[in-house]
Amino acid sequence: MAKKSKIQTPDWILKGVEPPKTKKKGKLFKIRKCPKCGKDVEVSIGEVGVWKCTSCKWKGRTPKEEELDEEEFMKYLDSKGEEVA
Ligand SMILES: [Zn+2]
Repeated sequence: MAKKSKIQTPDWILKGVEPPKTKKKGKLFKIRKCPKCGKDVEVSIGEVGVWKCTSCKWKGRTPKEEELDEEEFMKYLDSKGEEVA
């Protein structure tokens, strides 16, 4: 006699579809970067929705967006810290 399993078969197995694989886990941090030079962008004061590059003169509404997990974000902050002269 087979015991009744307490573990439910996940939906994706029943459907034969795997969930999307992602390396990223936990909290995701969205960062924005300059599409031109890849440096950080900041909100342009006095212009709603406009970003400007802290390095080159790029300015616009569509900076490059990147999603980082916590580990990557820490590395990102570290690398930023090193850039401070
Ligand atoms: Zn730039």
